[in-house]
This record gives sequence, structure tokens and C-alpha cells, in this order.
Amino acid sequence: MYQTRLEKTLPQVRERIAEAATRAGRQPTSIRLVAVTKGHPLEAIRAALACGVRELGENRLGELEEKRRRLEEMADGPGPDSAVPRWHMVGHLQRRKAPGVRKAAHLLHSLDSLRLARRLERTAPDGCDPLPTLIQVNTSGEESKYGFTPEDFRSQVEEILEMPSLEVQGLMTMAPLTEDRDLIRTTFRRLRELQEEARETHADYRGRELSMGMSNDYELAVEEGSTLVRLGTVLFGERPE
Ligand SMILES: *Cc1c(COP(=O)(O)O)cnc(C)c1O
Repeated sequence: MYQTRLEKTLPQVRERIAEAATRAGRQPTSIRLVAVTKGHPLEAIRAALACGVRELGENRLGELEEKRRRLEEMADGPGPDSAVPRWHMVGHLQRRKAPGVRKAAHLLHSLDSLRLARRLERTAPDGCDPLPTLIQVNTSGEESKYGFTPEDFRSQVEEILEMPSLEVQGLMTMAPLTEDRDLIRTTFRRLRELQEEARETHADYRGRELSMGMSNDYELAVEEGSTLVRLGTVLFGERPE
């Protein structure tokens, strides 16, 4: 069921990403698609892998860990099934669970507070590889959203850049749930501008990734410079849970 659906939706979505990139004068290959499988069974992941998807996203660490473990138990030896995915943790990470993310995920999209950064730094094993991470900024200003305010990002990013156990690869944001396309676009544009500003202000800021765009707004996000779109519903359908 997932396989049949994905064989239809995936080429459509890739085409739309490519068209949006072209409209903005960007290379379609500069945008990576992260398939967000939260709420879907393992079958969805296996279908995605079979269709060539290699970047998988989950918004809860426990679900990510469990799916990753079950998938690795199933995959034995080389062969088409052994395609190794990269795991993206895209949702809010509770501080007490922070240490686990280093083992579980290849990229943390949702470093959303200085306290979380400090916890990750303090609990990092000696000599560990730095955790690739994106800093989540609330560029929509909505109360309900996690993330640094742009002001806090400006004043606190330096401390994060100095943490040896974190490697800041860019920024992430979530657009408001609204029909107002201009508002969504502004939310994305602010993130891009904030990154440009950080690159000019901090010699040691090397972030290039912009994680923005979900099922409802990924084409706008690509037009505004997204390098990572996080897509669930448009690929897999409504979540069963
Ligand atoms: C669920 C989720 C997505 C995907 O949302 P869709 O609207 O289903 O594409 C993307 N990013 C985050 C952080 C999510 O929690």
C-alpha cells in the first residue's frame, strides 16, 4: 500500500521541488528530501527505502530509536534491503533524553534552546565526534512554537559555536499553519537572512543548511532557499495514529 502510493507521490514531489528550484534560479540537486515517517509503520520506511529515499525523519526520539533498531534487525547483509538510511531528528528533544540523540540521529534539526545545547555539551562522551545539528529559530513569532527567538539566536549563537561536541550545520524553522502565503514566505526568508547575517558576523559560523518546508509549504521554502525539506503527509498520506 505504501509502496504503490510512494511510486506516485515521490516523483510528483521531486518534480515540484525541481520546478520551485528552477523558478528561484537554484540547482534542484541542492535540495534534499527528508521523508518524515512519524506515525507511520515500518512498512512506510521500507517502501521509502525501496523507492530510493535515504533520508528519514522522526519527531520523537523514542520512535526514531525503535524504528531504527527494528529496521537494522531486519536488514541482514548486503543486498537491496541493506541500503543504509540517514536519520533526522526533527522534533522537540526533551533535555533529559538529550544524550541519546548522539547515537540515534545523523542530524538534529531541533536544537531549540541554550539549555538543551548546554545539556548536550555537558553529557557528551569524552572525545566524541561532534553532533551535526541545526539551530531551530522561531521566525514566525508564534507563541506555540519551539525555537530561539531571532534576538536570542543572535546573542547566544556564539556560546553554541564554542561547544566542541556540537557542529552547527545551519538553521531550521517551522512556518505558521495559515493560508497566508506571504506570511509563510516571510518566515522562511527571515531564516535565510538570519543565516547570512550569522555568517557575516561570526567567522566560525559555517552553517549552510536551511531546514524548512513541510507538506503544505515546501515549494515556497525551496523558492526561499531551503536545502532540506521535511515531508510526511504529501508522501505517505494522513498519519494513521
Ligand atoms: C511532522 C513533521 C513534519 C512533516 O509534516 P507534514 O506536514 O506531514 O509534511 C516536518 N517537520 C516536523 C518538525 C514535523 O514534526
